[in-house]
Amino acid sequence: MQVIGSCSFLSMRWGCSRRPVRPLALYTLRRSYAATTNPGNESLKDHFGAIDAKWQARWQQPQHQPSPVKDVKKGKAYILPMFPYPSGNLHLGHLRVYTISDVLARFKQMQGYDVIHPIGWDAFGLPAENAAIERGVSPALWTLQNIASMKKQMKVMGGRWDWDREILTCDPSFYKHTQKLFLLLHERGLAYQAESMVNFDPVDKTVLANEQVDANGCSWRSGAKVQKIMLKQWFLKIKEFQQPLLDDLEVLAKGNKWPERVLTMQKHWLGKSEGAKIRFQLENTDGTRSWPEVEVYTTRIDTLFGAQYLALSTSHPIVTKLAETHKQLHDFVQGARKLPSDSKDGYKLPEIRAKNPLFSAGLVGLENVPEWIPVYTAPYVLDHYGSGAVMGIPGHDTRDNDFRQENTHSPANVKIVVTAEKGASSKQTVDTTSAASKVDTAKPFTNKGYVTEGFGKFSGMASDEASDVIIEALRTNNVFAEKAENWRLRDWLISRQRYWGTPIPIIHCDTCGPVPVPDSDLPIELPALADEYFIGKAGNPLQNIQGWKNTACPKCNAPAERETDTMDTFMDSSWYFMRFLDPANTAAPISSQKADAGLPVDVYVGGVEHAILHLLYARFISKFLATTPLWPSGGGSENRAEPFKQLITQGMVHGKTYSDPSNGRFLRPNEVDFTDSRGPRIKSSGLEPVVSYEKMSKSKYNGVDPGETIATHGADATRAHMLFQAPVSEVLEWNPNSISGIKRWFTRILRLSAGPWIPTTILENGFIPPKDQDTSLLEILKRFHPSDKPADPRSRELTPDESLVQALTPKEVELWLKTQSTIASVTDSYSNTHALNTVVSDLMSLTNRLWDTQSLYNSGSQLSCTLRYLSFTSLLRMLAPIAPAFAEECWERLHEVVARKQVDQVDHPLHAPEPTSEISYVRSIFSFGFPIHDPHIVKLLSPTQTCAVMIDGRLKFTTEIPMPPADLTSEVDEGGEAKRDNKAVVREWIRGVSWGGRRRRIASALTGRVWRGCRWLW
Ligand SMILES: [Zn+2]
Repeated sequence: MQVIGSCSFLSMRWGCSRRPVRPLALYTLRRSYAATTNPGNESLKDHFGAIDAKWQARWQQPQHQPSPVKDVKKGKAYILPMFPYPSGNLHLGHLRVYTISDVLARFKQMQGYDVIHPIGWDAFGLPAENAAIERGVSPALWTLQNIASMKKQMKVMGGRWDWDREILTCDPSFYKHTQKLFLLLHERGLAYQAESMVNFDPVDKTVLANEQVDANGCSWRSGAKVQKIMLKQWFLKIKEFQQPLLDDLEVLAKGNKWPERVLTMQKHWLGKSEGAKIRFQLENTDGTRSWPEVEVYTTRIDTLFGAQYLALSTSHPIVTKLAETHKQLHDFVQGARKLPSDSKDGYKLPEIRAKNPLFSAGLVGLENVPEWIPVYTAPYVLDHYGSGAVMGIPGHDTRDNDFRQENTHSPANVKIVVTAEKGASSKQTVDTTSAASKVDTAKPFTNKGYVTEGFGKFSGMASDEASDVIIEALRTNNVFAEKAENWRLRDWLISRQRYWGTPIPIIHCDTCGPVPVPDSDLPIELPALADEYFIGKAGNPLQNIQGWKNTACPKCNAPAERETDTMDTFMDSSWYFMRFLDPANTAAPISSQKADAGLPVDVYVGGVEHAILHLLYARFISKFLATTPLWPSGGGSENRAEPFKQLITQGMVHGKTYSDPSNGRFLRPNEVDFTDSRGPRIKSSGLEPVVSYEKMSKSKYNGVDPGETIATHGADATRAHMLFQAPVSEVLEWNPNSISGIKRWFTRILRLSAGPWIPTTILENGFIPPKDQDTSLLEILKRFHPSDKPADPRSRELTPDESLVQALTPKEVELWLKTQSTIASVTDSYSNTHALNTVVSDLMSLTNRLWDTQSLYNSGSQLSCTLRYLSFTSLLRMLAPIAPAFAEECWERLHEVVARKQVDQVDHPLHAPEPTSEISYVRSIFSFGFPIHDPHIVKLLSPTQTCAVMIDGRLKFTTEIPMPPADLTSEVDEGGEAKRDNKAVVREWIRGVSWGGRRRRIASALTGRVWRGCRWLW
């Protein structure tokens, strides 16, 4: 793209600098770099894009692949971003998620892990089919074109992907195994067909998801009024796994590996509740006809005294029966299907009433309980909650109360039968029509409490006790009641009446019923259809292709028909992460060895919009596969077959949005004048526009093309900017203007790469940096000060290590401590907190320290230079995951200048062999691993801090005491005071300060008076 076209100038320059040159010439070269790297020099900043292009091209070549990091073997790290739907355009949200995963993958590689960082395509789905119907291009072609275009865009962003593991869910070599998974489920009785009520578009002749029906109950595509019809559908029995899906959220909660809110959403979606089942008797109001009993599930049977109505779902058999003879009821039921499930509408069933089971049991002392209650039908009662019936307790349930108010036209008393305090009167009813009402009926009492007076033996009982006693009392009197649990989770409906999905491998035979396709016949491929086939077509094409549909029964060989439903695309994404580990396996979805070795995914990155369905389905399928030979270990007993060890949910990207304050209209960028120094103005009116950050959308004209941003600023500056602007899980307000701050920072690093911090005299004589980037400070000091000669012979008390560090100047100590604290903090951010924005700010701070102090070193020693070299190369190594091409460039420039000779030595770590060419390269920065924090040296170097000593509230003196340990500092800073488990550390530290050998006597900095340390002082 544009970026690649502009690199010729730079590669020519670099071609020159690769020639072996003498130190003196190097010095000249360095100065010339300095001249061209003036921070105000625009041409340099414009070259960031060229740097990306140069390195992206080099990384294609084998000699520039990072070699494994030293001898470190840390095992596997499977880093995975949620794979994209191939829409054709990479947007900023994609760029954000892939940047995060690429940064973490590169970091893990530098730490010595065997990194798996694959990418693939969630390639089935409705948009491709709709594009086919609108434009007459086959879904397969449309999808492949989009993948090709997005792949190009992804390569430009500088990510390192395992392209050899790439998968497409629409490829028969992939969906063969999706079909095999279906058959495994079917074999276990976990895939079944059942009638289900669905949204049906009568024009397009297809089933719609709830999200595809608009607020008026019309199809999002055809605009037709959507119908609710019963259709035979395929389901997967996810409910068989509901208990482990709930219990194992604990595994994910450990160590905050999954975001709390995602765990809460999953828990809510599973929706387990504990309660009781009871049955109400129904009869006509004249007592003439008895109806079947209606079973109700309730979590609050202790409020049964306050039952004021019964409500049935609109498709309950009793409602259906009554609607046959009652026109108005029939009309209500028809209309109700279009109402949302939170509707308060209801219809009182004619001439029918329900008896409170307490009366059926003949219990005494129920003068305040209504024996007979009315029966309604209402859309808020779901078919699958309990048995499609609920008892209405307006005094203790908000929704019941709302419904009661909406549907009772006569003055109604809402009964309060449980109160927070024991001994309340049961006469405490609430007149909803009275303004003098003491209790706010808009807020029923929903907590547990005590049964009020006036309910016989139940009065005064706590809610839990009352529940048990009520169940027992009903049972004793031969009225049905039992403890029960209820789940919100439904079985997973996977049927789609669409072409562009994985065909369900079932053959329907009149004699044998649904017969699974034999393994040897997999995959059942989608029939290839010409582009024109799709134009203007409605419904599922598979139903009309007789040649594909008609087949023979695998059991009896009689003529039979293929299942024409395809699978929900969530089925593909429920297992794709396993396939990446074994993408070429033709015999099985994955080999058990590869599953055991590669699973679970160590870090999974994706949007919070997938917090429920995708993650739940993937957890379900993983748990199922752990019961098959495919993933026998399930990741070990600790992991309990969870697919994703750690989850990072990145926030959305919002765009800068301008609107007209006079009418709220969104403004196109060309309607705003940005040249006015007072700020943006609306061109037509001169008014100041309202500026806000909102979700990017075409209608708000606030979209940003990541390709353009990368072309303008370079991929690495864009990546760093993106990470710096907001913590990964929060909304990112994309402000392209502030990217200039990142570019200024990069420019500083580029200038430091030319080695201006090496004194001329040292450079002329040849500066020899250590071979090993992770040489400890003590080893360096030993090199400069052999241990048989302590640097400071006066200090006999000092250990050999302490003597060594005496050789350092305060500035050197300060730089080394800064470097060490940055390594510690950045490592923690990359590996634990994922606070990638603070990685950027920490690295900026270290850069500034190196930059601000370089003038001090003009007369520095070899030792000083070595420390600055290691500090600077640590900076580059820490930056490399975020800005890979830029870090490679700086790394190469630095070593071209300071270590040319070493680069030419074939046995030197910096040397990258190139057998066919005379040019030798600097080995990739990614081969040198991630800097390792050295806490030992920090202790040795730690300076003291000033401590004010007050006695009786008066400042007596100040003195220098050692710094508290690093872990203690952070606790004290964050909590304001030491946490309990830190008390021992505090005590130990204070004892060290007050009684430590050489600090027993404390000199006052104010008066010079010497204080003897003693117990009372502390
Ligand atoms: Zn048959």
